[in-house]
Amino acid sequence: MEIKKSGSRPSKKGTADWFTGTVRIDPLFEPNAPSRVIGISVTFEPGARTLWHSHPAGQSLVVTGGCGLVQSWGGPVEEIRPGDVVRFAPGEKHWHGATPTTSMMHIAIYEEIDGNSADWMEAVSDEQYNIGVGPS
Ligand code: MN
Repeated sequence: MEIKKSGSRPSKKGTADWFTGTVRIDPLFEPNAPSRVIGISVTFEPGARTLWHSHPAGQSLVVTGGCGLVQSWGGPVEEIRPGDVVRFAPGEKHWHGATPTTSMMHIAIYEEIDGNSADWMEAVSDEQYNIGVGPS
């Protein structure tokens, strides 16, 4: 058994390779073979979001605070709130982030396949981001 004490691991800043805007990442757990599961807590400031990306084994998000937005490629922008659980299929192109005016926090749970846990693509443009909730 191992207890990782709260406050023992520093927060990291989300890099521009992965995010637009101000994002904080707090590590929860890393893949320990044979497990491949990764867990992180992510805090998006208003206006912040991921780039478009996908995950080789998919991803689950558990929204823990604020109010945010999520979109799968070709689908509508959808609002997410604490308690919502979002699942992306393997290879599904998507983004997740805050709303333009409110922060959002989620726990992300996903897996590493041959050392890769995400494939990063283009940024979510302001036009894409600001289209609003509803039909695409
Ligand atoms: Mn994702």
